[in-house]
Amino acid sequence: MYDWMIVGAGFAGSVLAERLASERNERVLLIDRRPHIGGNAYDRYDDEGLLIHQYGPHIFHTNSKQIFDHLSRFTEWRFYEHRVLAEVDGMQVPIPINLDTVNKLYGLNLTSEELQDWFAARAEKVGEIKTSEDVVVSTVGRELYEKFFRGYTRKQWGLDPSELDKSVTSRVPTRTNRDDRYFTDEFQFMPKHGYTRMFEKMVSHPNIHVMTQTDYEDVRHVVPHRRVIYTGPIDEYFDFRFGKLPYRSLRFEHVTLEKPWHQPVGVVNYPQTNDYTRVTEYKHLTGQEHVKTALTYEYPSAEGDPYYPIPKPENQELFKKYERLALSTPDVWFVGRLATYRYYNMDQIVGQALATFRRINEALPQGADTADVKVMPSSAALAS
Ligand code: FAD
Ligand code: UDP
Repeated sequence: MYDWMIVGAGFAGSVLAERLASERNERVLLIDRRPHIGGNAYDRYDDEGLLIHQYGPHIFHTNSKQIFDHLSRFTEWRFYEHRVLAEVDGMQVPIPINLDTVNKLYGLNLTSEELQDWFAARAEKVGEIKTSEDVVVSTVGRELYEKFFRGYTRKQWGLDPSELDKSVTSRVPTRTNRDDRYFTDEFQFMPKHGYTRMFEKMVSHPNIHVMTQTDYEDVRHVVPHRRVIYTGPIDEYFDFRFGKLPYRSLRFEHVTLEKPWHQPVGVVNYPQTNDYTRVTEYKHLTGQEHVKTALTYEYPSAEGDPYYPIPKPENQELFKKYERLALSTPDVWFVGRLATYRYYNMDQIVGQALATFRRINEALPQGADTADVKVMPSSAALAS
């Protein structure tokens, strides 16, 4: 009999499994319908021995020492600051847009101060910044918006930036200096031996039993358990009763080339050309030395595994309906990017899982467990 059935072995499920097993000495069944642990952060060696990310590039960055320290229990790290170039007008220039981007693209020699004025002269006045178009046109003007953001966003989301919440393009800042790092967080590292090794260490505890290739539907009525942590899509849990929540998907094309290097940085974005959005070359991320090199091309798609919740007001409203249902579902805790329908990064999911663990401790003091043993969950505790 398990104290917990945890659905999904990504960051949300694995962090919670470890906490419950080691801090509360509770028995956990951790399941995933995929043939591996790690969720979308899963990495593996390809046939040539190159470490690749099965579900696209995952770069760890955080400003939280607590989150960094927590993961440091399960991995050593390799320092890595991510850099991205965008192919625009036939040139490869830094994104986020910075001083070098503008100078190279327009053949100018502006200083940082001059660039501020240059942007100000082009920025459009927007009353209230609501959409992903507003964010960019109000900062750098329409021309750069069209070059860098409009095409990429339409491809990535199948929507115009004017239809997407401002939070999407707000992820990418604009700079007037020469800083060409994609992120400026205090902690920027890759797990030294990969994400999968880190997850293996996290879940290798005598109280945790892992079952991959196992769908919740297959075991929920079969394996006795007291409570559930559910990290899959929330609409699926409730049999889509209010309709489907839109998630954006991707198709990944993994390629190995017979040469040591393909591109100057880890990721090159293609906002104007091609059906794919970006190309990742893993050796930049992993530091691996190899005579060959491995790449991933990302093709956005409406069909396929759910990867991105789509930040739009009407989707958020639909999610709220499911969330209300979740809050009144006893003994099931909904955690993670798919269950809370938020475009969260890995560190934010770790933070969410640790916060959920604290709430579990408050709601269920140890030694005072009154929940019945059951196959179907029955009485009460929730998180969002
Ligand atoms: P997931 O990793 O999605 O795990 C959920 C798991 O639940 C899945 O493995 C799924 O198979 C399983 N599951 C679902 N339903 C069921 C069921 N019914 N039965 C059994 N199992 C089930 N974040 C960053 O910080 N940096 C990055 O560079 C970055 N890059 C990204 C690139 C891409 C292409 C994508 C898609 C995401 C990226 N992210 C990045 C975000 C990151 O992937 C997520 O924040 C993180 O993986 C979320 O963890 P999770 O546990 O919530 O969900
Ligand atoms: N974006 C863009 N052009 C770029 C990079 C990003 O238009 O060159 C927009 C696009 O809408 C994208 C969003 O900014 O989905 C967030 O970018 P990020 O790199 O954070 O996307 P992720 O890595 O999460 O896919």
